[in-house]
Amino acid sequence: MKRSSLLLLFVTLLMVGYTFALQTHGPLPGLQPTRAAAQTFSPSLLTDVPGISNDVSVHYRDMKADFTKDVDGAINTNRYAIAAQLTLEPDAVIRGTQRVRYTNRTNVPLDRVVFRLYPNTLPMFTIGQMSVANVSVNGVRVKSRLSGGDTVLTVPLSQSLKPSEAVEIALDFSLVIKRGISSYDFQRLGYANDVVSGGSWYPVLSVYDVGRGWWTEPIASPEGDPTYTQTGLYDVRLTVPKEMALAASGTVIDQKANSDGTITYRLVTGPMRDCGFMASKRYTVTTTEVDGTQLNIWHYKDRTNTPKDGTQDAVETAKAVLPLFNRIFGQYPYRELDIVQHPTLSGLEFPGLVTISEGTWSHGDETLAETIVHEVGHQWFYGLVGNNQVEHPWLDEPLATYTQVVYTRETDSTGKSGDVIARLHSRLRSLFTEGIQQGDIPDLPLNLPVADYPNKYYGLLVYERGQLFYLELEDLLGHEVLYKALRQYVDRFKYGVATSKDLKVAIEDVSGKNLSDLFKKWVGDYDKDTKPASDLFRER
Ligand SMILES: [Zn+2]
Repeated sequence: MKRSSLLLLFVTLLMVGYTFALQTHGPLPGLQPTRAAAQTFSPSLLTDVPGISNDVSVHYRDMKADFTKDVDGAINTNRYAIAAQLTLEPDAVIRGTQRVRYTNRTNVPLDRVVFRLYPNTLPMFTIGQMSVANVSVNGVRVKSRLSGGDTVLTVPLSQSLKPSEAVEIALDFSLVIKRGISSYDFQRLGYANDVVSGGSWYPVLSVYDVGRGWWTEPIASPEGDPTYTQTGLYDVRLTVPKEMALAASGTVIDQKANSDGTITYRLVTGPMRDCGFMASKRYTVTTTEVDGTQLNIWHYKDRTNTPKDGTQDAVETAKAVLPLFNRIFGQYPYRELDIVQHPTLSGLEFPGLVTISEGTWSHGDETLAETIVHEVGHQWFYGLVGNNQVEHPWLDEPLATYTQVVYTRETDSTGKSGDVIARLHSRLRSLFTEGIQQGDIPDLPLNLPVADYPNKYYGLLVYERGQLFYLELEDLLGHEVLYKALRQYVDRFKYGVATSKDLKVAIEDVSGKNLSDLFKKWVGDYDKDTKPASDLFRER
């Protein structure tokens, strides 16, 4: 996600004596958790979900021509087949069924498989409620167990699953998304301004980390991104009211109008770590092609062609940033990228889809371009290279913020970007030096879990101090070397999960410098992150 103008806001609020937490956050009144809703399921959907096969050719359709082989390497990743229907009742309700083929990629036998039901996460999602029923393993009904405030779904396996063996788990789920704005979750999940936001809208496989086991940690802070996932292939049939348009991760390969006034979309993805969608009767789409990727700019029909409409600005920024980052960080491999006007406070990233605040979607608004750049930067840092966003948010957010510096420098037509970046650097330096000396800002390292930062300092200490870390690295190594190192990092961990040490080693290998002291000073404990046993891709 993106924190708009955080630095400026912080400085201003320090001066007037407010905390910026009060200004940017705080739940809106009247939205209480909806714990009892939506226990109904649609068994008829079950028959519509095919079993999962080793023929993955349909997923090629979400890849650029040079990258279809990446799909072949993903056959034994998390394989999702989902059929679901969205209805407005008037809260948004999703009922669905999903089959997941999970392959044991650890080196130990497993007696359970764990899913996360992110919509039940409090205090972040005060407007969602997910329920699960009819869980089966290889066609045999099992008794699953909920824990962790209903955010952890444990599916027992009657026979232990040996390394490299697979099971197919089927389940029904329902999700109620209460109508209204929740200010904490950046509308990751929501129903506001006639837009339904589907982030983490299905039961999501958790991750088995070496030496730790299944990731079941509570998501204790309302700040940050709540998910930790591994890459998978998604084959999704989503039925929505026919007046709603659908923007989603992946590529829509088929759509069918139904006699009951609904429309069913089939979308498939290449190797992606999440599958999000946004649906609205307000959306229309403007498309353009760049570097083999179709850019879909989804915007509100009712605001299009008004004098302040920012759609054309969004198109221009997206057309500039995608080829730039392709060149510097390595090719974005997917066939489509959706840039979606949205009720979010700022911006939010999903693989192949980013949401951008409707509040900044105005012609000439610099924040619109900044937010698009940041969220598109996440396609590399979070999307292609994953990380545990709850425990190591510093691995993606500062890099996405740093991509804004890269964009400023590399698209400069005025010759002034050097001054702009130097001013930003010196402002950040003095803010943190003085802020910490005077006790206004806590002196916390970059590599802490989201919940270890006081809420009101999270954005400042992770996004802005993280950006300062990369500016210091540029001073030390030169920006060209840093670009090369980040490209190496993407090459090594593409579609996988990286740790702080992985990032450090990639930068050291490319720069030839020992960065242990620097990482200790800024990052803190950089060699203790846990990670999955195998991401498959690195073994090829
Ligand atoms: Zn971000």
